[in-house]
Amino acid sequence: MMTSLSSPAPNLVVTQYTGDQIQGIPVVSQLAVADLAPGQSHRFYFQGVQMGTGQHWYVPVMVAKGLRPGPCVGLVAGVHGDEVSSINTVQRIMAHLDPSEMAGSVLAAIGVSRPAVEAVQSWWPTAQGGGTAYDPNRLWPGDENGNNAPSRHAGLLWNRLFRPNVTMALDYHTVTTGSEFTLFLYADLRQPAVKQMAELFPVEHIMDDPGVEGTLETAFVAAGIPALTVEIGPPRRFDTNKIALAVEGSLNVLKHYGVVAGPLGRTAADVGAVVGNGLESIRATTGGFLELLVDLKDTVRPGQRVALQRNAFGDVVAEYHTQVAGEVVIVARDALCEPGSRVMQVLYRREDERIGTTLG
Ligand SMILES: [Zn+2]
Repeated sequence: MMTSLSSPAPNLVVTQYTGDQIQGIPVVSQLAVADLAPGQSHRFYFQGVQMGTGQHWYVPVMVAKGLRPGPCVGLVAGVHGDEVSSINTVQRIMAHLDPSEMAGSVLAAIGVSRPAVEAVQSWWPTAQGGGTAYDPNRLWPGDENGNNAPSRHAGLLWNRLFRPNVTMALDYHTVTTGSEFTLFLYADLRQPAVKQMAELFPVEHIMDDPGVEGTLETAFVAAGIPALTVEIGPPRRFDTNKIALAVEGSLNVLKHYGVVAGPLGRTAADVGAVVGNGLESIRATTGGFLELLVDLKDTVRPGQRVALQRNAFGDVVAEYHTQVAGEVVIVARDALCEPGSRVMQVLYRREDERIGTTLG
């Protein structure tokens, strides 16, 4: 049987059950939240891209559908496979929801990049060329007919799950293995709806940036769907404090838009979130063992010595200085540092505006 290679128009998507079940959970190849019974929670496996041996990767999907109409908020975890706090955050948000009390719905995709999640690694490994890995957050909105599996997987999710249903979206990440991040938002604050969502998060740092081609956040925003990238600290382990704050911010969004009832929790203004619009990247100029002289959330000034490297004999072979006044938001945690690898990143305000501005 031939299957259509063209993607469906968003308003033509209906729920398609493949007839398969995995561990008792129905498999869908596309999903329309409108087709689902209201006042209930639903679980599916979304049929993603095929593997080389012919089976598929399946993405766990949960939908909490309210009794009353309202927006559909998309929660996305595990686009990068080693960023496990994203998964715990989404699980905790879903556990808070009572569909019989909700207006609108919440659609969660939990562990998008299956082989990367299974391997606890950032990138999606493929068999092409004897082994090629792709960054799964540089290929959205994907292409169902693309030249590699992760691009096709993204295209299927985009065309048949996210775009037809979601009216606003939160994409949860952490930094990749070897580094550590603060609790941080990437947000295109030029968009009023994005700015509104960002203000509802009690985070440490907010980067006002116009987006990066190929990220899921930017694909959503380009499609007219307000979205944030929420970075929840370190990779590979749960950071329970940052997860709790990410959950609080996400529930604030659901409360603000009337999906769930209840008083708002803490916001960006309440915790004094620091907003910047520039990110200085300091990269190793040589090989060597890295010693950090500052740490996350430290304030730095132009010309400040922030790190050094020693060779195997203990001699200092490189020293690193910031060019800007700002706050440290990412640091390398792997002491062995190859030339070109990231030592740290500093959030700052461009155009001589002093850092420390908070959202109004
Ligand atoms: Zn990520």
